[in-house]
Amino acid sequence: MQGIRRFFPASPKGWEYDLVYKRIRHIYFRIYPDKKIVRISAPSQITPQTLERAIQAKSAWLMEKMNALGNVPLPSNPWPAMKDSCSCMVWGRQRPVVRGALNSRPGICLTTESEIIIRVPSDFDAKKEETLWNRWLRSLLTERIQILLEKWQPVMGVEPSEVRLKKMKTRWGSCNTIVRRIWINAVLVHLEPCLLEYVLVHELVHLLEPGHTKRFYQIMETYLPDWKIKESRLNQIALRQCLSN
Ligand SMILES: [Zn+2]
Repeated sequence: MQGIRRFFPASPKGWEYDLVYKRIRHIYFRIYPDKKIVRISAPSQITPQTLERAIQAKSAWLMEKMNALGNVPLPSNPWPAMKDSCSCMVWGRQRPVVRGALNSRPGICLTTESEIIIRVPSDFDAKKEETLWNRWLRSLLTERIQILLEKWQPVMGVEPSEVRLKKMKTRWGSCNTIVRRIWINAVLVHLEPCLLEYVLVHELVHLLEPGHTKRFYQIMETYLPDWKIKESRLNQIALRQCLSN
């Protein structure tokens, strides 16, 4: 099947095609901008003629994508943008953002296929859309914090007076032990759920032991024996960078 490569359309400098045969029913084209590879997955039973036609039909689109993506400098930050125009990180996974038709009210939802669908009127301005995003992301956090509180409060025997959300530049969470109020950094909605859990448990431990004393870490160890892994993971994340987008 090596001869099949003659079907490949020309590609911009540095880009390569990669053809794989799989037990699938349809042809798929995937673009890996970081490796500059276009991967074509084709059914193993496909005839060369059908494959050629399918590739030809896609060639203009492929060329356009490769040219556009080839000019984008690779980010030096190993973390993807928490949110941009075409994707959003939610619970540690980068999810494509799809614009759906407006049925009734503007809204955002996460589909079972892990896509985010946003429905807004065509005259919706950027500021209103930002507000909608913030409200939605906060609702995801609030919902999960509630579940975590129901899990941890009875185990730890503590109950904060309230848990509030805030975008913070320097901390993942904080606890006012006098009024028993916990603040959680709203950025945590973008990261793996276990990191939110770690931050919340850390702040709940402060209700038992206000300072970062030996006893504090002993309690931490009891409830979350792998807390150090979570902590070092959070330390790797540039919080300021998360907030810049
Ligand atoms: Zn602390």
